[in-house]
Amino acid sequence: MPVNKKIKKVLEYIKECSPGQDEFYQASEEVLYSLLPLLQEDTRYLEHNILERIMVPERSIIFRVNWVDDRGQVQTNVGYRVQFSSTIGPYKGGLRFHPTVNLGIVKFLGFEQIFKNALTGLQIGGAKGGSNFDPKGKSDNEVMRFCQSFMSELYKHIGNQKDVPAGDIGVGAREIGYLFGQYKKLTGEFQGVLTGKGLNWGGSNARKEATGYGSVYFAENFLNVYDKSLQDKRCTISGSGNVAIYTMEKLYSLGAIPISCSDSRGSIYHKKGIDMASLKAVKEINHESLEAYATLHPDAVYTPVAHYPQEGHAVWHIPCDIAFPSATQNELTLIDAQKLFANGCILINEGANMPSTAEALAFIRKSTMLFSPGKAANAGGVATSQLEMSQNASMSQWSFDEVDMKLRSIMQNIFKTAYETSIKYDCEGDLVKGANIAGFKKVADAMIDQGSV
Ligand code: NAP
Repeated sequence: MPVNKKIKKVLEYIKECSPGQDEFYQASEEVLYSLLPLLQEDTRYLEHNILERIMVPERSIIFRVNWVDDRGQVQTNVGYRVQFSSTIGPYKGGLRFHPTVNLGIVKFLGFEQIFKNALTGLQIGGAKGGSNFDPKGKSDNEVMRFCQSFMSELYKHIGNQKDVPAGDIGVGAREIGYLFGQYKKLTGEFQGVLTGKGLNWGGSNARKEATGYGSVYFAENFLNVYDKSLQDKRCTISGSGNVAIYTMEKLYSLGAIPISCSDSRGSIYHKKGIDMASLKAVKEINHESLEAYATLHPDAVYTPVAHYPQEGHAVWHIPCDIAFPSATQNELTLIDAQKLFANGCILINEGANMPSTAEALAFIRKSTMLFSPGKAANAGGVATSQLEMSQNASMSQWSFDEVDMKLRSIMQNIFKTAYETSIKYDCEGDLVKGANIAGFKKVADAMIDQGSV
């Protein structure tokens, strides 16, 4: 059967057996079609039925999470852990707590994670999990009770050689602390079973900064190929969480100027550059809306979501040299991509997972803009999580500079792998193909070696 036809058939099969999972179909379609040249060149992957095998998770765990709120009322949420692939190492991938979380979202994230983790060059499999629980507006005690109840089920399925979750949207240091505490109480063991831990109880220096810093290192490598640099580049960033904040911090340190950020309620355009101390105070310390940033800086423009361009996001309509989507999936639409191109943007560097819609991605790939796909550009977080696992295994802690140096070198290697793969398959600079082919090949070859399990 011609490869194109086979891909179509697999995608149809996936839709049939997992209905209503749009984000998962979107991610699958992008990955599978980009593998075309590899599948044509090497027939073993289809002979061994690797496409179907890699697209069905090894295990999906869905569970009830009951917890008691501050008024004494019992609340119920749904918990998920999708253990997608353990072919090249223990399952690894974050937990997301956000009201939009459902099985399709967790599967798209887990599927992407397989290839991202393979690209890091480290021995880690792919997984993702989370809950439709919304930490926003909850007291610390409510978040703690939720995390304890969530872990009371999850602990049965994880372990430092089996599955090592980390944070993602809505899961930061506070949540990891409560989850870890409950795991330890239930098992009686102090294990490196979660990453993103506190620095004085098994965490790694630079883990908090790793995804954002790594995203900027990736952009730097890409620009260097075309004799460009980050110096004086005006950068738009979406989001104001972990990835966005540390992307901005690293941009400043490499001579660029971050001029925007956003949250779920609106966005900020600060022409002279985002003030990092104010942003951290508003988002990391006070957990406020970005409107509070505009109160501190009257020269910054705040645009609430209600005033965004139709089918677009205000941040991408600000003229810039480089765009760093760093909030969530499908936050950069076709209209946004066209606007970025018209305004002279030279690079879109994805810090978030699948922030560009399928239509935006198709436009970007045909344009002259450079494009760094999230699964390569944001892999610094999971890579540093693996460094945290190594430190836990050897009961040591490396300095911030040591971890940062390793992160920089890992990002350089990820870029090199994706870029060189793009050259090998006659699509120089198409890092969607380069990253997908390189990540898939590593896992698929190992699947063949390990037989049909
Ligand atoms: P985070 O700290 O929770 O921050 C998320 C940011 O995005 C917040 O500013 C949030 O606004 C905004 N946001 C979330 N959902 C949104 C929605 N539906 N519409 C508009 N804005 C939304 O999360 P993060 O860790 O920075 O993660 C951001 C992205 O990076 C995600 O795609 C995640 O999967 C990806 N990623 C994260 C890591 C990591 O190490 N953390 C690693 C790789 C990839 P509010 O403040 O209003 O909620």
